[in-house]
Amino acid sequence: AKARGRNGYRLYAPEMSGEGVARLQLETYLRRSIEKNEIFLHYQPQVEIDTGRLIGVEALVRWNHPQLGLVPPFRFIPLAEDTGFINQLGQWVLQEACRQMVRWQQAGLDVPKIAVNLSVRQFERGTIVDVVGAILRETGLAPHRLQLEVTESLIMNTGDALAYINGLHAIGVSLAIDDFGTGYSSLAYLKQMPVQTLKIDRSFIKDISTDVNDEAIAIAIIQLGKSMNLSVIAEGVETDEQAAFLLRHGCNRAQGYLYGRPVPSDELLQRWQS
Ligand code: C2E
Ligand code: CA
Ligand code: CA
Ligand code: CA
Repeated sequence: AKARGRNGYRLYAPEMSGEGVARLQLETYLRRSIEKNEIFLHYQPQVEIDTGRLIGVEALVRWNHPQLGLVPPFRFIPLAEDTGFINQLGQWVLQEACRQMVRWQQAGLDVPKIAVNLSVRQFERGTIVDVVGAILRETGLAPHRLQLEVTESLIMNTGDALAYINGLHAIGVSLAIDDFGTGYSSLAYLKQMPVQTLKIDRSFIKDISTDVNDEAIAIAIIQLGKSMNLSVIAEGVETDEQAAFLLRHGCNRAQGYLYGRPVPSDELLQRWQS
């Protein structure tokens, strides 16, 4: 049984051996999740702070397993990355996100752009530019409507990152650096790469207005973005105070519970159509 150790450690003694089995089971379930229609997307709005206008959405993957229920991304994304399944999953996500954009257009909702997360392993096969290009052609989505979110660690750990990012830029999609400021990276890459957007990580936004270090970092990122002509969007904005702080310091784009949680496509439509 679980018990709190004296120092707050959780002791899993009798279940230790079960952990590995659980992982293997999860892996087996995950491998079949797409064909069993258990994977779907939620969409979170990105807004202009001063006007409240919708400027985009981020697609976030969800897995609903009949026995396990809703499995959170932090449990299955790393697993999908370890097993390589992320390539299939990532491709499914891209395809579904682009299809959804076309459906919203047909339903009369203008979503300016959709952001899709890419994982480092999706660059390993060297086919990412072709994969994205094929999906855009198949779905008919205009390339400038698609933004790909990559992390600093993806950029630093991918041998040919620059070539792929140039390739993606060349086919007309835009790129955002996700969780900006949390990665182990050199800023030099920013100068070389055709990225358009920096996403300030939620960890810096959380304690804005109480933590002077977080404030300083957020302000520095906003300034960096300005001086490099990049658009800057803050993640995890939950309060009016955070939004006011951002606006005051020259960041007019935000994503977070204050503006809307990730929701199914029809809910996004209902909420933003009028
Ligand atoms: P992320 O890309 O940084 O996505 C933002 C996460 O923050 C989402 O968690 C979102 O629900 C959450 N969030 C948004 N606004 C707020 C807020 O105001 N407060 C708080 N507390 N949280 C907020 P989610 O959906 O659980 O996704 C977690 C991570 O899983 C994502 O972090 C991303 O790294 C990964 N992920 C999700 N979908 C995909 C995908 O399709 N492909 C890949 N490779 N990774 C994905
Ligand atoms: Ca993201
Ligand atoms: Ca993020
Ligand atoms: Ca984050």
